Amino acid sequence: MVENLPCETLTHGGLTIQGYSRAAVQSYWLIPELKLGFELGASPWSFMGNRTWLVTHGHLDHLAALPVFVARRRMMKMEPPVIYLPAEIVDDAWRVLKAWQRLDRGRMNCELIGVKPGELIALSREHRVAVFPTKHTVPSCGYLVYDVRKKLKPEYQGLRGDEIRDLRQQGLEVAAETLTPLVCFTGDTNPAGLDAHPDVYESKVLITEMTFFRPEHRREKIHKFGHMHLDDLLERADRFRNELIILAHLSTRTHVAEARRRIEQLPDSLRGRVRLWSQEEA
Ligand SMILES: [Zn+2]
Repeated sequence: MVENLPCETLTHGGLTIQGYSRAAVQSYWLIPELKLGFELGASPWSFMGNRTWLVTHGHLDHLAALPVFVARRRMMKMEPPVIYLPAEIVDDAWRVLKAWQRLDRGRMNCELIGVKPGELIALSREHRVAVFPTKHTVPSCGYLVYDVRKKLKPEYQGLRGDEIRDLRQQGLEVAAETLTPLVCFTGDTNPAGLDAHPDVYESKVLITEMTFFRPEHRREKIHKFGHMHLDDLLERADRFRNELIILAHLSTRTHVAEARRRIEQLPDSLRGRVRLWSQEEA
């Protein structure tokens, strides 16, 4: 199958990050190792096999491909997908799917799960997802993906294997879970989204938006429309403990070359960790 949608790939610390994101064009991301996709602004053929998706809000460039994706999986006889999205938009998303069901005469099999900030989703044994609030012009939220590790509680650490097994058989919980923030995906937001959860700054990989770069863009206006400017990042430069910071969702009014130039001027502490996405001119 010929892939005709743009897509970039970056590998970091055992995670392959694939995707594309330009404001008002389309956003779609996939991290195969986590079996997780973010946003359904378009549906590349190669993303179809991924079943679970997290969508941050209902703007067209983030959700327009929902019917295409759901229908293709059915056509390919794959399991119905599971799509998490803000609770406020679930009914409207179903209306869209029902309308396409009538137009296309094919059943739209999927699970749409509404989420609210503060929830912790148990995706699998290895991964949890925390939902945190973001600030955009429509109902929106961000997602923090955690790695779940089980560790013996300190009081049992000196015991032999058979002793631990005996305790387990007595019904004792010998292990405690630790959650390590692995990937944070903010979606579209003004800086309030960055500050909404301390782990945004701690997650190994942070994928966030940086729609505006040019000095003449007025920040108050950008924030009102639920977006960020590079200066917002600079103001918080000391807080980012992420290994990799991906700045996505660049406005079509900003040239990639110009955004790249501005990123090169970032302080040393940030520059080496920041990556501009997507690099191709829209
Ligand atoms: Zn948006």
